[in-house]
Order: sequence, then C-alpha cells, then structure tokens
Amino acid sequence: MTAILPGATIGILGGGQLGRMTAMAARSFGYRVQVMDPDPSCPARFVVDACFEGAWDDAKAAANLARGCDVVTLEIEQLSLDTLRAAQRYAPVRPGESLLAIIQDRIAQKEWLAARQFPVGPFRSIRSLDNMRAALDAFGHDCFVKSARGGYDGRSQLRVTPRAGESAELAWRALGQRPCIAEQAIALDREISVMVARTPSGALKSFPSATNHHENQILAWSVIPSSIPAAIEAEAQRIACSLAERLSLEGILAVEMFLTQDGKLLINELAPRPHNSYHASERSCVVSQFEQHVRAVCDLPLGDTDVIRPAAIVNLLGDAWADGEPRFDRALEVDSVRLHLYEKHTPRPGRKMGHLSAVGDTPEEAVKRVLEAKSRL
Ligand code: ATP
Ligand code: MG
Repeated sequence: MTAILPGATIGILGGGQLGRMTAMAARSFGYRVQVMDPDPSCPARFVVDACFEGAWDDAKAAANLARGCDVVTLEIEQLSLDTLRAAQRYAPVRPGESLLAIIQDRIAQKEWLAARQFPVGPFRSIRSLDNMRAALDAFGHDCFVKSARGGYDGRSQLRVTPRAGESAELAWRALGQRPCIAEQAIALDREISVMVARTPSGALKSFPSATNHHENQILAWSVIPSSIPAAIEAEAQRIACSLAERLSLEGILAVEMFLTQDGKLLINELAPRPHNSYHASERSCVVSQFEQHVRAVCDLPLGDTDVIRPAAIVNLLGDAWADGEPRFDRALEVDSVRLHLYEKHTPRPGRKMGHLSAVGDTPEEAVKRVLEAKSRL
C-alpha cells in the first residue's frame, strides 16, 4: 500500500459539518479537497476546492467527484452502494462498499454483530405488522423502534412505553411501514463511544472513550475522557479494535455503546466516519478525529490519540436561534471556551448548527464550562 501524500486530492461524499471539519484537517496537511452533497451551499462548501451537487444515490455525481481524486471517503453512511461503486471506478473508496452495506441498514448491522458474538441488547428485526406485534409483546411495550434505514439524531425512531400504550399498528405506520428493528429499552448507567482508526496497511489505533449525554435522543454534550472504571475502558477498547479488524476497516469507526446499570457494555450502533461525540478530540487529544480520518484514508502513520487535557463540547441546535442570533460574545467570556459554527443558513429546531468546546483540569470542569457558556447564549 502506498501512502497518498499531501498535495493529492481527497474527495468526500457528503459536505455537512463532518465533511467540513475533515476538509479543514485535510487542508492543514496541504491536501486539496472536493465534496459531493445534495445542497450546493452545504457547510463544507466554504472550505473546499470544489463542490459537486448530487443526491446520496447520484452515481453520476459521485463518479464526477471521484474522477479528480486520489482517494474518496465519506461523512454519511446513507449513500447508495451504486454511488460507491461509481466512485470506486476512479479512486479507492475508504471505507468501502462491503462495510457500508452492513452498517447502513440497522437490521444487517445488528444481525452481523449478534452473529459474531459482539455484545448487543435484545432486539427483533421487523418486516411486517405481525413482526411488530410480536416484538412489542416480547419487550412488554418498553422499547425503541428504529427504521432500518435513514435515521439520525433520533429521527425515524419511536420510543414505545407501556404508559403511552402505542399500538403495534401505530408504530408500524409511524415508521412508514418499512423494515425496522425493535430494541428493548436498556436501563442505562451512561453512554460512551470509542473512535477507532485503521489504515489500508492494517495499522490500528483507538481513542480513549467519550461520555455522551443525550436529550430527546439527540447528543447534547460529550466529554473526553469518559472517566469509566479501567476494566470497562479496556473492554470498550477491545470491542472497538476487534470491530475494526473484523470489518477490515479503512478509515475511522465510531462505536456507540451503552453501559448498563448492571455494569455491562452493549453496542448501540456503529458509524464509519467522524462522529459528534469526538468533536472534543480537537481540543483534548494529540490528534483530532478529523486528522486521524485523513491519515487513515491516505494510509499515513496514524496519530497519537493520548489525552493532553480533558475537553467537552455542547451542541448548538437551531432552537438556540429562536430569539435571534445567540449571544456568542457572552459565551466566549467563559474560561477556555471556543466557538465552532458550521455555516448552516437556516437554524431549524433540532438542527445541529455548531458547538461550543472547553478544556478543564478534569472532565467535570470541562463539562461545567461548556454548559455555563451555553446557558449564557
Ligand atoms: P445519532 O444520530 O445521534 O447517533 P440515532 O438516530 O442514530 O442517533 P440511536 O443512536 O439509535 O439513534 O439512538 C439515539 C439515542 O436514543 C441513544 O443514544 C440513546 O440515548 C437512546 N436509545 C436508543 N436506543 C436505546 C435503547 N435500546 N435503550 C435505551 N436508550 C436508547
Ligand atoms: Mg446513535
């Protein structure tokens, strides 16, 4: 395998905030970058050499992107496999089609994990109303139902509770009468994630885990390191590295995990791209997830993932714009706080517009600072 050296061109399928921040890391290495996105004024638009307009199943646009590239990567898993194949004709696509095929479908992903004895919570694959009835009964109507394809930030999911009494018919209709999975609602101690990188040459390196706090099924804040007991950290690292090997990963992979109240780790889901829960790596670690992404897909030596200083981020959703432009000046008064905006033009409720980050002597202090900064907006 030969390294793709700075000066070469990296293509990214997807130009949202993850593509944008990867592009910024690539640019500091001196790479040229181009992206494909359905939105010609996507967040990455302002930091790349070229932006190709194309939907997630636009094989022609993907081919046009790849034609001028030395390597193609992605920031979203909901790309059609045809799109990846079209790009692959012109440049290596990392991560590749076979990994995407497993991950982009929740049923395929969960079944793949379970078949290989990776730890996952109880789940049922659902392809009909009858399956839905059986699943809700099996879980005592206390579960999450999630579309097999296309969901993110808690969209395309339904939290079913015995109290609300959602019927199987309602759940089946709410999810568009399409394949989905039901997962038993897990009693969580906390949520963590581990980011792992693997190069085409087989080098492997993982980051210390992050602790993630969700509100309404959307990531609210996240901190690195996660301060979990050493034995659980070691187990989380072992799971992430073993997944990267078994999937023959080329690139980076975020492994979202639940730590249950009885001390067990369960894999929630996988994301083969930069992840919201590792935005803090830009401040906490020697090398950020974005730089590691670039190094991995270019087959460069992977960077050091050690924590230099605990760091946290808090997401800024469109809701913060409800009364006009937020008071960023006041947030920036808080010690060590930095502002990251993605240049999205329309602040819709629930839409990730940016984040605030801070470092601290401890993870708790870093979290306290970002939350304080956010409360000042
Ligand atoms: P994201 O894009 O933020 O990763 P998503 O739409 O892919 O979210 P999930 O990660 O599956 O959805 O779920 C979002 C959140 O909902 C989880 O992080 C967790 O807080 C909660 N959740 C999901 N499934 C379960 C479960 N089985 N038990 C308990 N909590 C759950
Ligand atoms: Mg998730």
